[in-house]
Amino acid sequence: MKLLEDKVILVTGASRGIGRGIAKVLAGHGAGIAFTYLSSPEKGAELENELSTVGVKVKGYRSDASDFGAAEKLISDIMADFGKIDAVVNNAGITRDNLLMRMSEDQFDEVIKANLKSAFNVTKAVIKPMLKARAGSIINMSSIVGVKGNAGQANYAASKAGMIGLTKSVALELGSRNIRCNAIAPGFIETEMTASLGEEVVKGWNEAIPLKRPGTVDDVANLVLFLASDMSGYITGQVIHVDGGLVT
Ligand code: NAP
Repeated sequence: MKLLEDKVILVTGASRGIGRGIAKVLAGHGAGIAFTYLSSPEKGAELENELSTVGVKVKGYRSDASDFGAAEKLISDIMADFGKIDAVVNNAGITRDNLLMRMSEDQFDEVIKANLKSAFNVTKAVIKPMLKARAGSIINMSSIVGVKGNAGQANYAASKAGMIGLTKSVALELGSRNIRCNAIAPGFIETEMTASLGEEVVKGWNEAIPLKRPGTVDDVANLVLFLASDMSGYITGQVIHVDGGLVT
């Protein structure tokens, strides 16, 4: 059964990792996919080719989610190309890890802008067509680090905690217009973002995770599928963990 037939979904930061996996799963369920990337146009083109073989409409846009004007232009371009946007996945994100003692102002600002302000930018632009349609699902990619903090990631944890506040506020403001907003808090998911961690670090994570394995991109994408579909029509303002039970 295809859950997203006739829907159009925007996924930010889909050139690799979790975003790419999300775009594939949503396309497999019949959704038209608009996606963004920033520094990997070749990977964007690759994804566009791959998804067009699935038989859905797909278009990649080079767009910096942290730039307010660029986000407004992105939404108006997608509206011109696809005619509507049913759901948005604010997935684009970066890390610039350092202990607070050594963290520069630039490292802090860059992460807040790419991870948190980006979600504000895209959400603010997309609610205009969603308000007109009186429907929409906004899905923000937070992290368990935004719930519990993490040494060496004060900037990243603050950005991900901020996304939770943004999510709950948007849910309260727009629920009466049938626009839902939820956050996903992944734990340790195997992607390029986590590939640079050493073997010992990965072993430590696996020991701490009750399900005794790292998460996969599909573990996260399957929750996005549910939240973007009408099956989650009575769910809003929630933070749902995909972390193998790590944070309870
Ligand atoms: P990733 O492999 O590093 O991919 C990040 C994606 O975001 C790339 O497609 C990148 O595009 C894009 N991006 C970065 N800055 C952007 C910007 N300003 N505008 C548009 N696109 C931008 O990361 P990931 O592991 O898949 O993580 C995806 C999301 O899940 C992030 O928000 C991350 O914080 C969150 N998360 C990940 C984990 C994990 O264990 N991996 C855990 C919790 C939460 P380019 O390559 O084109 O620059």
